[in-house]
Amino acid sequence: MAYVLIAICFGLAGGIVGKIKGSSFFLWFLISGLIPVLGLMAAIAYRFERDELRRQCPRCGRVTKIYDALCTGCGAELEFPDVAIAPESWERSPAPHA
Ligand SMILES: [Zn+2]
Repeated sequence: MAYVLIAICFGLAGGIVGKIKGSSFFLWFLISGLIPVLGLMAAIAYRFERDELRRQCPRCGRVTKIYDALCTGCGAELEFPDVAIAPESWERSPAPHA
């Protein structure tokens, strides 16, 4: 019985974290409820992942995270870029003027 309560608490926490970042509350509620600690960690990590700056590989054009030292597409070594691409979470935000 105690486990069910813990699962529900983690489910709610994970669901709220997921919802804040524009993901599905129900999806993260399920994940965090089924695997309480790891699910909540995943929900939080998901949030940070979406907030990371990105950059484009000069060789193959693949968009990777700014902290990647190697391109995940072609394996090229990447210098720290002069120009970063806005995090994914920014693109969801409505434009200030339509
Ligand atoms: Zn590449």
